Amino acid sequence: MHLFPATRALDMTTPTPRERLRVAFQNVGCKLNLYEVEALKTGFHQRGYQIVPFGDQADIFVVNTCTVTGSGDADSRKVVRRARRANPAATVVATGCYAQRRPGELSEIGANLVVGNSQKPSLLDHLEAHLSAASELPSPLPQAPRSSNFLQIEGVVEQGRTRGTLQIQDGCDEHCTYCIIPQVRGPGLSRPPAETLEQARRMVQGGYRELALTGVHTGSYGNDLDQKDGLPKLLRELENIDGLERIRLNSIEPGSLSDALIHHVAASKKCCRHFHIPLQSGDDQTLKRMGRHYTRAYYAERLEMIATLIPDCAVGADVMVGFPGETEEHFENTRALIDDLPITYLHVFPFSLRTTTPAERMQGHLGNQVKQERSRCLIALGQHKRLEFHQRFIGRQLQILVEDRLDKATGLRVGLSDNYIKVVFEGGRTDPNHFVEALITQAREDLVFGEAQSQ
Ligand code: SF4
Repeated sequence: MHLFPATRALDMTTPTPRERLRVAFQNVGCKLNLYEVEALKTGFHQRGYQIVPFGDQADIFVVNTCTVTGSGDADSRKVVRRARRANPAATVVATGCYAQRRPGELSEIGANLVVGNSQKPSLLDHLEAHLSAASELPSPLPQAPRSSNFLQIEGVVEQGRTRGTLQIQDGCDEHCTYCIIPQVRGPGLSRPPAETLEQARRMVQGGYRELALTGVHTGSYGNDLDQKDGLPKLLRELENIDGLERIRLNSIEPGSLSDALIHHVAASKKCCRHFHIPLQSGDDQTLKRMGRHYTRAYYAERLEMIATLIPDCAVGADVMVGFPGETEEHFENTRALIDDLPITYLHVFPFSLRTTTPAERMQGHLGNQVKQERSRCLIALGQHKRLEFHQRFIGRQLQILVEDRLDKATGLRVGLSDNYIKVVFEGGRTDPNHFVEALITQAREDLVFGEAQSQ
């Protein structure tokens, strides 16, 4: 029998008014997790809890965990331990993908309550039941079927927001052979259009001027609703919302990059010139063993179409190195393809074994040294491509949305262009959440310098 440590709930014999309970949130992982943390925060805020930064003393810690790779697991464990150390008397709640996959491991290192993805929309109810019942509840909640409810963002907890993430989809039906996500997020599920639009309106009323649409497989939006071209349709509806100035698409799988979607973004006044399109490998044999249903030629053709129809479009790609059986030749096919294509930045991931996936049983697992060498090679290539992209804008103007923060290294005001370029700038109007035209004067790999032009 697996024993979990005794729960350390707050002393509820003398009830603490909620407004005196301080709750700190920490996110590990992807943009979808960011949306969920934002939604959880607003839910706690509405019920009277006080939201505090993660570094502060808190009575309750909520950690939204990740399990996409081994480092996602390690980071999640680190944050749970940090919360436990920060206040040994606090209630530590772990939720998210790692919590769904390995609830017992998180209990063992100090989480008092573990709420998997399936029960995340009712996390606050579970927490309050836990606090009331003290040690009577088992620490990891029993697994339950996934709720079809999406977390809602109600109002705004922190002022000064400019860009927000809006969840439009969850889960995935693809089953790539290395990926654990369908096991922890379930099958593809689209957020109903009316609810999505209502959520977007509320976020815009709360001050956001840019929304990034996100999900596990965002491009599959509408498939389960029997909608053809569900995503372009949703984009059209979102574009009618007054005050929403920019719509950004987070990761879109190559198979979902339909002509209709590319044409829509090309013609839209509100869609950002920005795609993020996971490549994973530029070698056809490797793609096949990954269970990815496209070829390098198809991927290249989609990117050429984007570059032709949407000049100066930012195009990011995820790429995985060291997949089992990846030879030097396979890797070189990937490197050469990336070099040739109008990709403007890269996210490089070494293959990370996830137990229970088909890749676990494949031959030819590679050592860490090979994975690191290949990672370094592609990271350098990605940096070179990003610098080249940034240099293209010297002497030109970019419209930027001014953020409510200063760049730590330069101390300058920061804004983001629609084509995903971080601009630090001087002069002009600097109050956040406004659009400014900036003349680009210098380019670095990580950002560009600009001078705001008078309006
Ligand atoms: S598309 Fe593939 S990599 Fe992406 S979540 Fe689905 S199974 Fe995982």
